[in-house]
Amino acid sequence: MVSNEIKEVFVKYLKEHSHRITNERFLVLDAAMSMQGHFDADELYLNIKESFLKVSRATVYKTLELMSECKLITKHNFKGDRSRYEKKIGREQHYHILCLDCQHIFEFTEPKIGKTLKKLCSEKRLNLIDHSLQAFSTCKEKEKCIYYKKSRLR
Ligand SMILES: [Zn+2]
Ligand SMILES: [Zn+2]
Repeated sequence: MVSNEIKEVFVKYLKEHSHRITNERFLVLDAAMSMQGHFDADELYLNIKESFLKVSRATVYKTLELMSECKLITKHNFKGDRSRYEKKIGREQHYHILCLDCQHIFEFTEPKIGKTLKKLCSEKRLNLIDHSLQAFSTCKEKEKCIYYKKSRLR
């Protein structure tokens, strides 16, 4: 079950934007917050189905959109890939490097990036609201790349 803090953020957002508050949306909220790493809507949908919960695919898609609007999760569009989501609340700011061969996503943190952007924005008299960084690469170690590729196709 998700914490009350998360539930409150979600309910507040739904109310403020006149979206319906339904049980199905809470089921998706729960399931999405317990997903590890970066997942797409269909992976979440299958996960929910496997737990014998009845939620339509459309509701899963819609709820993920709502959750990213209220910043509980982040929506990523990695190159040539379906939208992927990941938990945002309670996580520190991090960045992504994707291997174009195996599609493995490497995460890293670098406080200098945020600091630099804040400085640049303030010089231009802008308020920094949010930021993200994606880089694209290929694995140098081919065995590792093949291993990642295989583990993705599980
Ligand atoms: Zn990430
Ligand atoms: Zn790779």
